[in-house]
Amino acid sequence: MKELDILQDAHIKVTPQRIAILRLLKENSGHLGVKPLYNLVSQQYPNISLATIYKTLELFRSKGVLRAVAVASGEANCCSSPDFNSRLVCSTCKSTFDIPVPEIDLKEYLEDVSSRSGYRLTSQQLVLYGLCPKCSRQEA
Ligand SMILES: [Zn+2]
Repeated sequence: MKELDILQDAHIKVTPQRIAILRLLKENSGHLGVKPLYNLVSQQYPNISLATIYKTLELFRSKGVLRAVAVASGEANCCSSPDFNSRLVCSTCKSTFDIPVPEIDLKEYLEDVSSRSGYRLTSQQLVLYGLCPKCSRQEA
């Protein structure tokens, strides 16, 4: 999916900066902290501020764009609440990667599980198995 389509799908006003940020997130499979992201974006847009990066990421997160990027790439280190991770385990090379779950999605999910099971939940762990990006590339 093209950056433009992702933004339009999420009803986010398209700006060149937002496209650039989104592209960098995608290219780096989410393995990109806010500061490095800022450094890269400011090479193209020297006037962009760190605050704008934060705001954009927050916007992306609130609209589910970050999640879309994370899911598409299988990874997302960037910009997430540390509260809860799903752990991804590569079944080929056994590498693991923790992908943060947005707090709001988690809350809904847990409430749903709790109400359907009657369990009062005290802790949670989510492990997902698959092929890491490196191994899937080798397989292709
Ligand atoms: Zn692997």
